[in-house]
Amino acid sequence: MKITPIGIYGSYPAAYGATSCYFVESGNAKIVLDIGCGAFSRLLGLIDPALVDAYIITHLHYDHYCDLFPLSYYPGRHVVYCPSTPADRFTLIRNSRALDVRVIGEGARISIKGIELSFARTAHGVETYAVRVSEGDRSFVYTSDTAWFDGLVGFCKGSELVLADCSFGEGAPHMTPSDGIRLRSESGSEVVAVHIDPVGGAERTAAAGLSVAKENEPIILW
Ligand SMILES: [Zn+2]
Repeated sequence: MKITPIGIYGSYPAAYGATSCYFVESGNAKIVLDIGCGAFSRLLGLIDPALVDAYIITHLHYDHYCDLFPLSYYPGRHVVYCPSTPADRFTLIRNSRALDVRVIGEGARISIKGIELSFARTAHGVETYAVRVSEGDRSFVYTSDTAWFDGLVGFCKGSELVLADCSFGEGAPHMTPSDGIRLRSESGSEVVAVHIDPVGGAERTAAAGLSVAKENEPIILW
């Protein structure tokens, strides 16, 4: 299981960076989790986007899905899983003939070439899902965007790694670095911060003692 962070920023990217996008490969399975601003160009550097089995969009905030639109000009028909709200954004995506759009919701399960994906609704401004990616009895979690919520620890427990939205300051609809530390201690999983606030997020997170994902530096899990 190899995860390549293509874009690690939240809201907008740092210069020459990209917002949320993680390329996941294991065996023959090739899955992209979110495809934010600046991600499509980088994905092209890693793989022919037509060979990706599925694009999983955790929620319809621009920094997680906006590069679906350049993807929609790329040859092929691309499988996209996403929530069906907000309705205006969903309609825009669904109306693209290049995208084969399927809806995810609470409790959804997807199987792709030996990889199982399960979802948990998070605490965020729009309908948003954390994703647990499992292969046999091993797994990792990508929290997508969320503030702390009941059920997060249970969803993460037993996973080897949590890519966690935990670099923002207090009061945002995201976890703080101290939430990230709490998640690490209560779940027993390794926590790596993602969805980094471009204004001081990396520094804030590192100062709390959490590691921060690095763009284009793959994480080999098993
Ligand atoms: Zn968001």
